[in-house]
Amino acid sequence: MRVYAMTGGATGIGAELKRQLQTCGHTVISVDIKEGDIIADLSVLEGRKAAVEGIQRLAPDGLDGFIPCAGLPPVARPLSLIAQVNYFAVVATVEGLLGLLKKKKGSVLFVSSNSAPMVAADDPFVQACLTGNEEAACAAVESRDGHTAYAGSKRAATIWMRRHAVEYAAAGVRMNAVAPGITMTPLTDLVFADPELGQVMKEFGDSVPVGRTAQPVDIANTMRFMLSDDASYLCGSVVFVDGGSDAMLRSEDF
Ligand code: NAD
Repeated sequence: MRVYAMTGGATGIGAELKRQLQTCGHTVISVDIKEGDIIADLSVLEGRKAAVEGIQRLAPDGLDGFIPCAGLPPVARPLSLIAQVNYFAVVATVEGLLGLLKKKKGSVLFVSSNSAPMVAADDPFVQACLTGNEEAACAAVESRDGHTAYAGSKRAATIWMRRHAVEYAAAGVRMNAVAPGITMTPLTDLVFADPELGQVMKEFGDSVPVGRTAQPVDIANTMRFMLSDDASYLCGSVVFVDGGSDAMLRSEDF
């Protein structure tokens, strides 16, 4: 049986993926700010260090997979928190766990979003993230809005994955990203309740081509496949699981 580590396993998509992997008989080490095997606040350096060291302690023989799933919604404040959790914590934990992943030729599954392409790759916030300067990226995002902070953090993390996919593959580690559409979780509850973004979110939900928003199980089913041996040739891919919204919005871009 396999050993996986993840962040954000307490609720929503992460909790459902954890449940599915455990049902298959796998061990799942969960890092979260709320509850889990390792309690850590990934928005700060000490929390990321505690996460990596905790996983190293619990999985000394290596990891079959790592899923940096913890994320904050566009309504989180200050906006710099979104950059810290959705981008910098993701990169720091993936880099910190590379040694363990190499040991078992594991795979990394990023959790992007179908909103990621809505912020341009050359956006100053996305570029600030990609330079790796956390202080500058946090300063850059404070003058923006929640949508740009969220979608931009996902865009940056997905670009980071694509840029490093070749180098990681050479080390035996496959990296991919799932890009969910609106999925009913505590994160989306907060967005639906927001006076500004709630209505936009509702209209976007009503426009989903398959006629409904997703449940965590819809996303976790695909994630479980992407982590499995059946997906052993999947590398550097961004898989949209969004009921057709991305195809509707960007039919020419793939
Ligand atoms: P969720 O709120 O249920 O889960 C997020 C988890 O991250 C929670 O368990 C939370 O405690 C944890 N977390 C938040 N801040 C943290 C911190 N500082 N340190 C450690 N853990 C922290 O939300 P979800 O919708 O299941 O989101 C899971 C992932 O899916 C996120 O990365 C999110 O951006 C992404 N996503 C969600 C949707 C959606 O519509 N729900 C769509 C696209 C992408």
